[in-house]
Amino acid sequence: MANVMRDFFIGLSNNRFLNTQAKKWGFSLGADKFVAGTTVESVMEAVKELNHQGISCTLDNLGEFVSDKTEAGEAKDKIIRLLNTIHEENVDCHLSVKLTQLGLDIDQAYCTENMREILDIARQYNIFVNIDMEDYSHYDQTLEVLQALRKDYDNVGTVIQSYLYRAEEDMENLKNVRLRIVKGAYKESEEVAYPEKQDIDRNFLELAKQRLAGDTFTSIGTHDHHIINELKAFADEHNIDHDKFEFQMLYGFRNDMQNKLANEGYNFCTYIPFGDDWFGYFMRRLAERPQNMTLVLKDTFYTEDNKLKKGPIAAGGAVAATSAIALWCVKAKRDRKKDNE
Ligand SMILES: Cc1cc2nc3c(=O)[nH]c(=O)nc-3n(C[C@H](O)[C@H](O)[C@H](O)COP(=O)(O)OP(=O)(O)OC[C@H]3O[C@@H](n4cnc5c(N)ncnc54)[C@H](O)[C@@H]3O)c2cc1C
Repeated sequence: MANVMRDFFIGLSNNRFLNTQAKKWGFSLGADKFVAGTTVESVMEAVKELNHQGISCTLDNLGEFVSDKTEAGEAKDKIIRLLNTIHEENVDCHLSVKLTQLGLDIDQAYCTENMREILDIARQYNIFVNIDMEDYSHYDQTLEVLQALRKDYDNVGTVIQSYLYRAEEDMENLKNVRLRIVKGAYKESEEVAYPEKQDIDRNFLELAKQRLAGDTFTSIGTHDHHIINELKAFADEHNIDHDKFEFQMLYGFRNDMQNKLANEGYNFCTYIPFGDDWFGYFMRRLAERPQNMTLVLKDTFYTEDNKLKKGPIAAGGAVAATSAIALWCVKAKRDRKKDNE
């Protein structure tokens, strides 16, 4: 059942129609638990609050499925405005970007040029920019863009996903590059990715330990306390300097643990998504952890004193729920047809 739910929400995250509709519904469905508003101003509020608690941040201007240059150009301009604001406000934060938002699906050279414009400004301000890793269909292109950029910029890095069989080899090729290690959030085929959670977790630990034993800065992106505790013990045992790594978690997840790690003297960084293109990101979070759904449903349909909400938010929720059920039925029907073929 957990796998069915996971596939279902990942399917929704990739649905272009729902992604577009969600922008029209506005910010709803309880997404504000995991997304820090839609504007640069709202995200700055969140950054300042976290910085005050000794936590640094990485900002993600949400956006996927960009297929025309106007939209990609607007995304680039917004990211540059964000860099200017980070500099002016003198906050402790860097950026995370997705190449498909900057035109990777339109033209790789165009996307690389957009990244160059961003990195030129970021370098002036001494700000690091991390390229998030998307699904496997964009994997090779992402590494190619990164390699091209690394020839001229050292303020750029990327992400290694421990579910991929080739993760260790790619990590080795990027040993001088700042990296974030994660498990991987997309549905990938068994031809390229471990299907079993225990293999993904084991690989995560191996990759992270190799990086901690090396010389280049590493971000450990997980909410998994088993992994965090084992890596803390590994770092103690091998006298690994805390300045060689940081833990990262997503905004709105395990806030107590985020504070605890920062208070224990570990570098801690919160990944904060913001913007009106929140649907795909939000559905992937529901796919990872069905418990998130309970939080969301309560938030969407009930007021704080447990009364059923009226108006656009509940209407938005109803539209989403209905669309979700309709899509689920279509998918189930298609899968049944495939099984019978
Ligand atoms: C900062 C950051 C950046 C990321 N960037 C990318 C990226 O660029 N590309 C990509 O593909 N993926 C990215 N991801 C997503 C990542 O790949 C995983 O899909 C996601 O983090 C879920 O895996 P997990 O290790 O956090 O824990 P899981 O494997 O989901 O959970 C393991 C265990 O941890 C505990 N746990 C987890 N979450 C909670 C919670 N909320 N409350 C209580 N207990 C919990 C539970 O005991 C659970 O069984 C990123 C994740 C983070 C944190």
